[in-house]
Amino acid sequence: MIVPRLIERKRSGGSLTQDELRELVLAYARDEVPDYQMAAFLMAVYFRGLDAAETSTLMEAMLASGSRLDLSHLPVARIDKHSMGGVGDKTSLVLAPLIASLGVAVPMISGRGLGHTGGTLDKLESIPGFQTQLSMEATRRQVEDIGCALIGQTKELVPADRKMYALRDSTATIEVIPLIAASIMSKKMAESLTGLVIDIKRGSGSFLPELDKGLDLARAMIGLGATHGIPVVALFTAMDRPLGHACGNAVEVREAIDMLHGGGPPDFVEVTFALGADMLVLGGVSRTTDEARREMARAISSGQAAEKFEEIISAQGGNANVVSDPSLLPKASCDAVYEAPADGFITRIEPRTIGHGIIALGGGRRNMEDTIDPSVGFVITAKPGDKVTKGQPLATIYARRKSALEIGRRTLQDAITIAESAEKSLPLISHRVTKDGVEELRKK
Ligand code: URA
Repeated sequence: MIVPRLIERKRSGGSLTQDELRELVLAYARDEVPDYQMAAFLMAVYFRGLDAAETSTLMEAMLASGSRLDLSHLPVARIDKHSMGGVGDKTSLVLAPLIASLGVAVPMISGRGLGHTGGTLDKLESIPGFQTQLSMEATRRQVEDIGCALIGQTKELVPADRKMYALRDSTATIEVIPLIAASIMSKKMAESLTGLVIDIKRGSGSFLPELDKGLDLARAMIGLGATHGIPVVALFTAMDRPLGHACGNAVEVREAIDMLHGGGPPDFVEVTFALGADMLVLGGVSRTTDEARREMARAISSGQAAEKFEEIISAQGGNANVVSDPSLLPKASCDAVYEAPADGFITRIEPRTIGHGIIALGGGRRNMEDTIDPSVGFVITAKPGDKVTKGQPLATIYARRKSALEIGRRTLQDAITIAESAEKSLPLISHRVTKDGVEELRKK
């Protein structure tokens, strides 16, 4: 393999053969191809793209670079949910125990906060003692025993993707649809899933704000799943405002526990139920999404979903008492209420500004080495479209020092716009995409 020839061909708009691309990826994973050559190749892909066959080969090569979490012996379906990242998106914290409590295995590999978005691993680690770095063997045993494990990507799992993702992050080559699709799907294939639901975020707080790019990504992932016999369903959900009320780590766990006990803000409950309904239908537990919704409501009201969360927390070394007593979660030493500075209608609550505000409060990372304070963040009870009067409480700021409350106040001032008349926001759930096509759920 002469790597410069492969880069040159991609740069000129040509395609690589299956053998060439596979060898390139595997050699890179073995440290036999230097970063500068792979970076040049990725930049060529940024401009020239990959066709469907190349995307599939890339995904398979990444998958072949490591070991798999083999769960194929389990007698039940194995379904995961993947979100494209957002602010206030704590659906995984509810879906994993809820769906596992209904007899579908959920081997969930999650990530840490990235850019302005929060990460499920960081949220889980706000539960005292909770371990997210399980070995493949421990993960397999836990899924066999209790139907769910919530872990981070391990060293053994898809190492080519780990290396290529880090390189893409530092060479401005993240936003390439075939690379994103192959990266996500390689990790999902490594979990030996039988189905996948993806939550593609739309709007200003999304990594891919435009609908057409999101649709391209959905189609690419559905196509990759189809060639490997794994049905994939994509739902498009709004990220032009945070999801639910809580934005941070421990505050989000608290809101997720509230939903497991039958509460939770309506938008968070609706998105969680929509994603969960498709998970249960893919898992063969429910025939229709309406039936699935009834099953989920029953699992919540009977307490079985909350009990499953306790089982998962105990199995991963955490203090399961947080489920019955959320006051055991880390608490910020200072809090303050943020009030509406004027009368009017809320027209925007900008998720990126909120996400950056959480980082500024110490609840997210600027560098991968940073440690985070799980207790800080916001609970924003106001929503776009609300009519408010001056002095009305809109949010609570949680900070570790009194002086940091000012950072929180400035964040909310910048993020929340109040105007004389209301403006339209994106529909909460706008499209559902399957191998059969795109269904528009609500007119804009
Ligand atoms: N998430 C991933 O895992 N990979 C990407 O390329 C983008 C988002």
